[in-house]
Amino acid sequence: MGRYFQPDIECMERSELEGHQLEKLKWQVKRVYENVQMYRERMDETGVKPEDIKTLEDISKLPFTTKQDLRDYYPFQLLAVPKRDIVRIQASSGTTGKQIVAGYTRGDLDQWSNGFARQLVAADGDEKSRVQVSYGYGLFTGGLGAHQGAEKVGAMVIPTSSGNTERQIRFMCDLGSTHLCCTPSYAMYLGETVKEMGVKNQLKLRAGIFGAEPWTEEMRKQIEEALGIRAHDVYGLTEIMGPGVSYECEMQQGMHICEDMFIAEIIDPDTGEVLPQGSFGELVISTITKEGQPLLRYRTRDLCTLDYSPCECGRTHVRMKKPAGRTDDMLIIRGVNVFPSQIEEVLLKNSIEVSPNYQIIVDRVNNTDTFDINVELSPKFNGDVEAEKHKLETQLRSMLGIGAKVHLLRPKSIVRSEGKAKRVIDNRNLH
Ligand SMILES: [Zn+2]
Repeated sequence: MGRYFQPDIECMERSELEGHQLEKLKWQVKRVYENVQMYRERMDETGVKPEDIKTLEDISKLPFTTKQDLRDYYPFQLLAVPKRDIVRIQASSGTTGKQIVAGYTRGDLDQWSNGFARQLVAADGDEKSRVQVSYGYGLFTGGLGAHQGAEKVGAMVIPTSSGNTERQIRFMCDLGSTHLCCTPSYAMYLGETVKEMGVKNQLKLRAGIFGAEPWTEEMRKQIEEALGIRAHDVYGLTEIMGPGVSYECEMQQGMHICEDMFIAEIIDPDTGEVLPQGSFGELVISTITKEGQPLLRYRTRDLCTLDYSPCECGRTHVRMKKPAGRTDDMLIIRGVNVFPSQIEEVLLKNSIEVSPNYQIIVDRVNNTDTFDINVELSPKFNGDVEAEKHKLETQLRSMLGIGAKVHLLRPKSIVRSEGKAKRVIDNRNLH
């Protein structure tokens, strides 16, 4: 059995948990109907009243919310409280431009802190831990989210933010950081730099909490090896709550969703139909306790499955599998669906010869999509470059079902990211 931050909640009997969810759902639906014009109009259009929510299954009667709604009702029209009750704004900008914002009340920040605190404790953290937060601070939820969660546990927080990598590592050694929080791509970069500086034996790191980007099991192994830690996957999104919406326990078999705060569903992304337990589809989240900007049935665009089987850690909250991709990360190249994570998987299988740093460049020439992948050779590589290129192209074709042109570059020639990695350059919209 592991340790928990809030055992009464994290290990609550499911029947009791579901009773709590129904009560909070009814409360939230009534609030948004009374306070948010968009929800009132949408429910009136379909003839659903707050009193029609009698069971948890009735959630499917409620309207969906999309990212476009957050853009259309920017900045404050989805608030369910007066603006003076909002104490924090977080925001993100999608690749398509317009910002979306989320307002948090004091109570919302407290809940968010609990979510991340559960993660930290599940990652063997406590008040004696020293937590280095190398996520960017600011409108992005990573930095402040990890920071306030670690403070709630009572750990020593080291708010280095991202960047200045050598200084980060000096601090890590000098202050004896036990936990590292950042994006997985930055963790990889930190791992490379630790190796170059030859200071791995000075690290006191035990665990890392990494999120905000898709990453594979292969990448987990590499990070764990490079930094000598156990790497946990954490999930969050600006629209719902930053890191801590779901968190990975010591079993590392999926992320427990904080079901006292959220109701999760899996739908068919094309039809919107709710799928049976265990199905693969789009994750939809309703915030049942959020005060400031509550969302009903928010379509996350993340594709995954939910696992309701009991977890050996003793927590009862459902686990989401690592998202296989995001509907909006998916590229359509010559009519074929391509996820960057598939490319990463192939590169990580060849980690002796190449580094997992890559860049996808898509363009359109004579009405046909071109598909190029820049990949760095590993510093240790001493084989035949043409043969290596041919091998990767063959493996990628069988993984993706479509051919890509691989360009092997000198080690370290692709710019490293200190936040979210920029993996895709799609020039097709420039024409
Ligand atoms: Zn568990």
